[in-house]
Amino acid sequence: MKRKGILIIISGFSGAGKGTLVKKLVEKYDGYALSISATTREPRPGEEDGREYFFLKKEEFERKIAENGLIEYACYCDNYYGTPRAYVEEQLEDGRDVILEIEIQGAHKVKQQYPDALTLFVMTPDAEELRYRLESRGTETAEVIEKRMQRAAKEAMGIEKYEYIVVNDNLEKCVDEVHRIIMAAHNAAHRNIEFIDNIRKELEGEV
Ligand code: 5GP
Repeated sequence: MKRKGILIIISGFSGAGKGTLVKKLVEKYDGYALSISATTREPRPGEEDGREYFFLKKEEFERKIAENGLIEYACYCDNYYGTPRAYVEEQLEDGRDVILEIEIQGAHKVKQQYPDALTLFVMTPDAEELRYRLESRGTETAEVIEKRMQRAAKEAMGIEKYEYIVVNDNLEKCVDEVHRIIMAAHNAAHRNIEFIDNIRKELEGEV
């Protein structure tokens, strides 16, 4: 039986450590493909074009939308973010689990197109810790931090639509927990219909 890749959507508050979590996950375990998003926001110090994001001008991003080159896109804190289509489709076809680290509006759009996608929401143990992490990252202005905190309050209204929540208290533990959830998802009956059908047919032949 050919192993089918699962599309995994990881959302979470900005500052909850999703980026680091996802990076560690693909380093530690085989079989994952990490989708690189396109964005119109400025690179942070240390970020590279084509590694963290494809950094595009607004017109370039809008051209991608017009060409249907994105599975989804959303406007987040005044910038566009979107998921390039081709890579995701190729990797799923090859049997890889593809990770999208995207915000909540994009997650809903992907779920409509890929109902089988697995959805996880990463959060901090509490709001104070979230503010602390955003401030200690030291890459955003006070104004941007406030916007992101307000955005977190809005996003918190949609968390229960996700299948799993993951509290990022201890990074290593959290990475292993996410991996375990994904491994278990592979065994979900609804993701193995072909296998189940085959066994049914074989059993019918036996009796
Ligand atoms: P940041 O600017 O902190 O890198 O990302 C801001 C938010 O945009 C995060 O919540 C991140 O998950 C989300 N994001 C990153 N890439 C995409 C994307 O391709 N589509 C959508 N909808 N959101 C994204």
